[in-house]
Amino acid sequence: MDLGIQGKWALVCAASKGLGKGCAKALAGEGANVVITARGAEALEATAAELRALNPSVQVVAVVGDITTPEGRAAALAACPQVDILVNNAGGPPPGDFRDWDREAWIKALDANMLTPIELIKATIDAMAERGWGRIVNITSGAVKAPIDILGLSNGARSGLTGFIAGLARQSRLASANVTVNNLLPGVFDTDRVRTTSMGAAAKSGKTLEEVLAARRATVPARRFGTADEFGAACAFLCSVHAGYITGQNVLMDGGAYPGTF
Ligand code: NAD
Repeated sequence: MDLGIQGKWALVCAASKGLGKGCAKALAGEGANVVITARGAEALEATAAELRALNPSVQVVAVVGDITTPEGRAAALAACPQVDILVNNAGGPPPGDFRDWDREAWIKALDANMLTPIELIKATIDAMAERGWGRIVNITSGAVKAPIDILGLSNGARSGLTGFIAGLARQSRLASANVTVNNLLPGVFDTDRVRTTSMGAAAKSGKTLEEVLAARRATVPARRFGTADEFGAACAFLCSVHAGYITGQNVLMDGGAYPGTF
């Protein structure tokens, strides 16, 4: 299937590794020019080189910066001639007990996982509508549908974003202008983040990392973790010309882990 996004410009935030990188790979593979961001230059440049090798016909621009800051967002936007596709992503907040979180911890989570995507949408969506085409995908979490108790900061911040997007996507001035806004909800994917959190769990429980990972895999009906490439393919489809009638949706990718009918 030709996704019809050749020559479009995509801004993919937090994309040197993991799910963001998976999305950037899929979009570049389909012929979209990409601006990718991350805080560390080394991993970001390596990913940029990988994308250029994957599809030498697209432009790949790497922007080092923290996307949760106004400066990081300004640099990312300045590097993108026009944003036709916006993939919002940032690191997830740390786990813990809400009794230990002060206002600062909450503001940090809200900044990263709610307000940063909203700021980037605000900066780009009206121009998309004027051009009559736009795709926005927010990487959120399966925790929006089934909250994970130790990830209260994530449950709260991402649910705030989800509520906002539900209203925004249904504005007829956007939907009728072929601008869609959807959320992609990862369950457990094989990325650095999952390894880091599992290492923490292993250290606490006295189990090996492999034992913790095996126990997590056993909770997924697919009996495996998702891959960043699978996640990227779903993102690219939501960004394609074929997905113009899908908007305001929360698309869960979790190998069957969520137990509900809806
Ligand atoms: P990851 O740690 O593998 O990769 C995160 C990427 O984001 C890296 O490229 C990192 O450099 C970049 N990054 C982080 N913070 C940034 C910032 N402030 N500015 C710019 N770049 C930044 O993480 P991942 O597993 O790909 O997760 C991506 C998002 O999805 C996170 O918010 C995570 O909480 C969420 N999520 C992941 C899973 C999973 O199973 N992997 C499940 C649910 C939710």
